[in-house]
Amino acid sequence: MIRVEHLNKSFGELHVLKDIDLTVKESDVVVLIGASGSGKSTLLRCLNFLEMKNSGSIIIGGEQIEKKSHDLNKIRQKVGMVFQHFNLFPHKTVIENVIEAPTQVKGVKKSEAIKEGKALLDKVGLGDKYDVYPSKLSGGQKQRVAIARALAMKPDVMLFDEPTSALDPELVNEVLTTMKELAEEGMTMVVVTHEMGFAREVADWVVYMHEGRIVEYGHPDEIFNEPKEQRTKDFLSSVL
Ligand code: ATP
Ligand code: MG
Repeated sequence: MIRVEHLNKSFGELHVLKDIDLTVKESDVVVLIGASGSGKSTLLRCLNFLEMKNSGSIIIGGEQIEKKSHDLNKIRQKVGMVFQHFNLFPHKTVIENVIEAPTQVKGVKKSEAIKEGKALLDKVGLGDKYDVYPSKLSGGQKQRVAIARALAMKPDVMLFDEPTSALDPELVNEVLTTMKELAEEGMTMVVVTHEMGFAREVADWVVYMHEGRIVEYGHPDEIFNEPKEQRTKDFLSSVL
C-alpha cells in the first residue's frame, strides 16, 4: 500500500527525516511514536504530499509519486488525514462539512453525498447531529466529524496526527473507539499518538522515531515488552 525508501526531508539546514524506510501493507495499522521534534508529523505530511521530500521514493498503491508528473490533489484524495485540531468549517453544519469535499472536489451528486455522509456520521455515532454547527459539539464529537469527513473521500489510507491530543481526557476514548472500529474494518492506518494503550491494543506495528530516524520497528509486544534499543527503552520509560 505504502512503501517509503531512503526518504530524506530538510527544512533549510535542518535535516528532519533521515533515510526513512517504511512499508505499510493493506489493512495494517502502524503507530508512530517518538519524542517531540523527532519528525513524526513531517513524515505523515510527506505521505500526504503536504510536504515534498528532498530525496528517496514514496510509492502509494503501486505508483511512485513525483511532484512533476502527478496531480497531487488526486493522490491526496486517496490519503485521508485527521489532525490534532479538527479544522471543521465553522459556518457549515456537520453534514455540510462532510459532503464538502466529495461534492466540490470529486463532483459527487449532492443527494448521493448526503446519503453517504449520513451513513458515515451514523457510523461514528453522530446520527443525531447532522444539522448542528461545530460550535455546538464537544471536542470528541468534532474529531469524529473530522474522521467522517476524511472517510467521505473514500481514501485507501488514513493518516492520524495526534487526533486525541487536544481533547479533554474524558473525550479521548470515544475517538479511540472510532479509530479502533475503523482498524477492525480493515482500514489501512498510520497513526501518530501518545496513547500507548491504543498502540498496544490496535497497532500491528509500532515505529519508534528518534531525531529523524526510525530507530526501532516491531510488533507492539516486542516494542513495549522487549525493546532492543536503549533509546527506545529511555523513551518508553518516560511515557509509560
Ligand atoms: P511533536 O511530537 O511535537 O508533534 P514531531 O515528531 O511531529 O513533534 P515534527 O513536527 O515533524 O516533529 O518536526 C520535526 C522537526 O522539523 C522539528 O525540529 C521542527 O521544528 C521542524 N519543522 C517542522 N515543520 C517545519 C517547517 N514547516 N519549517 C521548518 N521547520 C519545521
Ligand atoms: Mg507532530
